[in-house]
Amino acid sequence: MKYQSTRGKSPVLSFEDAVFQGLAPDGGLYIPTEIPKVSLPEIVSWAKLDFPNLASKLFRFYISPSEIPDNDLLELCQKSFSTFSHKDVTPVKKLPNVFQGSRDINLDNLFVLELFHGPTFAFKDVALQFVGNLFEYFLTRKNKEDPSSPGEKEKHWITVVGATSGDTGGAAIYGLRGKKNVNVFILHPKGRISSVQEQQMTSVTDENVFNVSVEGTFDDCQETVKSLFSDVAFRNKYHLAAINSINWARILAQTSYYFFSYFQILRLNKVPFESAPSYASLTKIQYSVPTGNFGDVLAGYFALRMGLPIYNLIIATNANDILHRFLETGTCSKPQTGVAQTLSPAMDILVSSNFERMMWYLARGDSRNGNSLATNETEVRASQQINEWMQAVKSNGFTVSAETLANARAVFSSAAVSDVQTTDAINRYYHHQFMLALNSSDISVGVKGYILDPHTAVSVVAAEKIVDTQKAAGAIYTVCLSTASPGKFPEAVMEAINENVPVFSYQAGFAPVKFADFAPKQLVELEGLPKRCIHIPTDGGNTELALERVRKVIVEKVLSMH
Ligand SMILES: *Cc1c(COP(=O)(O)O)cnc(C)c1O
Repeated sequence: MKYQSTRGKSPVLSFEDAVFQGLAPDGGLYIPTEIPKVSLPEIVSWAKLDFPNLASKLFRFYISPSEIPDNDLLELCQKSFSTFSHKDVTPVKKLPNVFQGSRDINLDNLFVLELFHGPTFAFKDVALQFVGNLFEYFLTRKNKEDPSSPGEKEKHWITVVGATSGDTGGAAIYGLRGKKNVNVFILHPKGRISSVQEQQMTSVTDENVFNVSVEGTFDDCQETVKSLFSDVAFRNKYHLAAINSINWARILAQTSYYFFSYFQILRLNKVPFESAPSYASLTKIQYSVPTGNFGDVLAGYFALRMGLPIYNLIIATNANDILHRFLETGTCSKPQTGVAQTLSPAMDILVSSNFERMMWYLARGDSRNGNSLATNETEVRASQQINEWMQAVKSNGFTVSAETLANARAVFSSAAVSDVQTTDAINRYYHHQFMLALNSSDISVGVKGYILDPHTAVSVVAAEKIVDTQKAAGAIYTVCLSTASPGKFPEAVMEAINENVPVFSYQAGFAPVKFADFAPKQLVELEGLPKRCIHIPTDGGNTELALERVRKVIVEKVLSMH
């Protein structure tokens, strides 16, 4: 399998090269030269596999065996997902129907897919645990094939540099800590990320990990990183590599849980599967995906195109609703007002970077099943279109044709969810247990309430809204992706649950929840751990100075290692 740029002006690359490149030199994103289709018997044969085995079968379609042989690929998957604390890696749980009797909406088939059992308790671990191992694997092999002279340091190494406003930095650090031939520098805006996230990152004291706190905003940090990457001499000398969400390997890694959760849903609901005679007869599923940069939901699109029977993908946004507005109107444009700060900060974006990949398929004329008439020429035109659209989105935006919009709507629906609705959902799903307890003579019915983190709450509210419009389709299983543990966003969670407490909860003995009641123990214990962080003062926001100082830190640290 080879990879081409959405902008059409970069050479086609192998998987390995696409992973190290990140962004294509023409500014585009890498996509596979075709989307592989998995045959029905093959999908059926995956039903009983455990997570790493399933993932390795799936990834095989995108990585040539000459690049990574079968055994190594399986080992990479086993290593990557063994750091998850749940035996299923990403378990599926049923949500209670909190509307039962109060509203005519069929929520009996609502589930959450918990993607947060990795080392940093956020879904980005699924991808970044894998990417860290991939980097190490490829570098180790390059050094073996191209050894240095005796007594010298190894020739092939990289310096990962990134900026974070929260979850990405932590997941990247945990994915790369202790990896051979990799140093990682993660910049964060001092005092402007949540305390859990800051403690999580700075308590990683491995030799190859450098937390850099910069006086300024997240945008300042990101600008500094961009400047470093655009300095070609510096970039080449220090072998800079990026791990942001446009890296193809991250999207690929995320397709795994779409397939895995499909089989979990069938098992949970005792749906027979092995004997399905045709694609059309397979049980359908839909996913609600809390969306920021569109990486997670894009992975769902690839799963659908590969043959997973996905009925619909729900794009769930917060107030930063560029994608929801696009699906409503066909126009993709930045809001006039800048980024809105919401209770789901990992989705606070202006423009979703990975949407470019989706737009390329739409520009090629693809619908649910692709476009069997696509030729080289169609692809050249699609890339030209992408170049135009991506220019336009920087200013006034662009509008697609009615046909293109219909093609998008054949795959996606969308909903924008406000902070008030987010808080309300956290409240409803938690307090439901007390209503059950009161209404039942069987006191054991007081099933523990489910605690949604704010990002997950956005996906649940979006699912409720869409399911409400799909009365006839009520039998379809709807899976809400749960992208973070509530313990990562404790302030929002405690406020949602401990305020506006329903009367029935007090009657049934509700007591306010505390951080330690619902946070994983590792997060509670972060407070006492030793921390390491390099602070970069900018003398009151001088970005030139920030850049110079960060550059100096990288040079110094990297030279001391190599
Ligand atoms: C990154 C993130 C998201 C958004 O994922 P995208 O792939 O950028 O759409 C949602 N929730 C959480 C908790 C995240 O960390």
